Amino acid sequence: MTPSDLAFDRHHIWHPYTSMTNPLPCYPVVAAQGTSLQLSDGRQLVDGMSSWWAAIHGYNHPRLNQAMQQQIGQMSHVMFGGITHPSAVALCRKLVEMTPAALECVFLADSGSVAVEVSMKMALQYWQARGEKRQQFLTLRNGYHGDTFAAMSVCDPQNSMHSLYQGYLPSHRFADAPQCRFDDNWLARDADSFEQLISTHKSSLAAVILEPIVQGAGGMRFYHPRYLQRVRELCDQHQVLLIADEIATGFGRTGKLFACEHAGITPDILCVGKALTGGTMTLSATLTTRQVAETISNGAAGCFMHGPTFMGNPLACAVASESLAILAENHWPAQVASIEQQLQSALLPLRDHPHVADARVLGAIGVIETHQPVKMADIQQFFVEQGVWIRPFGRLIYLMPPYVIEPSALKQLTDAIIAAVEQPVLFQAR
Ligand SMILES: *Cc1c(COP(=O)(O)O)cnc(C)c1O
Repeated sequence: MTPSDLAFDRHHIWHPYTSMTNPLPCYPVVAAQGTSLQLSDGRQLVDGMSSWWAAIHGYNHPRLNQAMQQQIGQMSHVMFGGITHPSAVALCRKLVEMTPAALECVFLADSGSVAVEVSMKMALQYWQARGEKRQQFLTLRNGYHGDTFAAMSVCDPQNSMHSLYQGYLPSHRFADAPQCRFDDNWLARDADSFEQLISTHKSSLAAVILEPIVQGAGGMRFYHPRYLQRVRELCDQHQVLLIADEIATGFGRTGKLFACEHAGITPDILCVGKALTGGTMTLSATLTTRQVAETISNGAAGCFMHGPTFMGNPLACAVASESLAILAENHWPAQVASIEQQLQSALLPLRDHPHVADARVLGAIGVIETHQPVKMADIQQFFVEQGVWIRPFGRLIYLMPPYVIEPSALKQLTDAIIAAVEQPVLFQAR
């Protein structure tokens, strides 16, 4: 890419959460292969991010490419209204088979945020069909569910800057974030705030929505499976639907195929996205039970009122189906377990470091929480100079590499983090 391309980008193109007047620098990537990103000057960076949880099998995967090429030869897209096609059926068969038995009706959409919108609309239509006016959601502080309006309304009120949109966002109920960590001893009082809110407001609650076990973009926190079990019990007891947002955690990242399995629970509605297509195309799915689907369908509307233009996009379905076929060969449990072990031995000792507030690892996710927020542009440049692609935010430096990463490449990533926490200039002053 030429300097003029980069200048154009800077002047005309928005990137995620950036300013148009004073954007953070962008690094030009021209190719990606396996676990490596190639910059336009030829440098290769080890990828620690899987392009935000997505590229679990690595980049430029021959089988994923072949699935897409084959589908392009048939048709890249066709409308889903009144039409079906083999790739959608193959994908949905696999999704129904690999998720808990009760989840058997699939809605395909374009992105994670839209899957969340769809899940919330399903819950609203469900209660409307049952003749109950239930229009609020109960969720957890520190959550993240996407950037569209309904999704944003159930994100952590501080992290997602609800104040910016005050008066426009519906207001929902927020339980205290779970404090018991994944492998702590369980303390039943951790769920007190949730229990109090659900029992007080049950008659106005359409659903509980949460990220099972891992709170991702809202803080990279791993909470206790008993918390999730308690949520399921209370939802059953008070007859409130449970929506599990597994958009980040789905497809093996936490060491289980779905994070709900850590607690042995089944949600009423499940959202998946991100890794669904192995990081190649944008696609998401919302699954629900026959009972929820039938109730909605027997309501006043007689149908579920949602239908995006690119619903069931054949190209995305074909590559998702192949990505799930790779997962079904079951190499991922050993890959994720060995990443977990290596992350634990490299990162957990940093807990004693004076600049580090906490270090935690679950599955193929490693998190370093520092005392001071990072200086974004400086630490990004530092990591690139170390030959790695790691994108921290706030006080969180975290890794979620592709499952196929080699131990030596993973060591490059953890070494770079260990080096970074030694450099006070990469962090904001106290
Ligand atoms: C990323 C994410 C979303 C939003 O997905 P997009 O594809 O970015 O719209 C929703 N929920 C969770 C838990 C996520 O991690």
